Amino acid sequence: TTFTELGLDRRILKALGDIGYETPTPIQAEAIPAAMQNRDVLGIAQTGTGKTGAFTLPTMNKLATGRARARMPRCLIVCPTRELAAQVAEDVEAYGKYLKLEMALLIGGVSFGEQDKKLTKGVDILIATPGRLLDQFERGKILMTGVQTLVVDEADRMLDMGFIPDIERIFEITPFTRQVLFFSATMPPEIKRLVDQFLHQPVTVQI
Ligand code: AMP
Repeated sequence: TTFTELGLDRRILKALGDIGYETPTPIQAEAIPAAMQNRDVLGIAQTGTGKTGAFTLPTMNKLATGRARARMPRCLIVCPTRELAAQVAEDVEAYGKYLKLEMALLIGGVSFGEQDKKLTKGVDILIATPGRLLDQFERGKILMTGVQTLVVDEADRMLDMGFIPDIERIFEITPFTRQVLFFSATMPPEIKRLVDQFLHQPVTVQI
């Protein structure tokens, strides 16, 4: 499979060409078509497999048309740590260099002023850690009604860090109709239960 065969927007293909990626990794080749059909995806894959591209590329493809409204992100990407969130943001910037998508990072330790300015302008993709995201939601700074895609990255690390109640809450406050792309390196019972409760007939992709 090539990226062109996956049917990604030509502006994304151009960015991938600039970076020098020629072919999708196995997890990308399986997850991207399923996600592009708007299916929920359960990806069981370690770091290093290209999992970040597996959820960012189809999501960005879906968002390539349309615009976000004030305080209504169209995609939420939830990561367990600031470092991981920052890394995902770097990939989104690189893949999106020819798209006009607004992105914001909502992580602890960063002053809220700059983040809030972006939220008022409207962000297409909000990359966040669970605590900061819920905090700003409770303050009315973020509206969930526009969320079309919810990505949960490294769910098993969320479990290790005690974030499962936060993740449950994020599932509950986002629209029932959103697409879910859920990634975890392992599938302990607590994660399996979350998947069974909140994903709708997911396509499972395991590498
Ligand atoms: P990840 O599993 O998302 O942390 O990605 C692991 C590494 O693979 C990162 O350094 C990516 O930049 C790189 N990568 C992701 N997709 C591809 C691809 N299709 N071809 C070559 N390298 C890739």
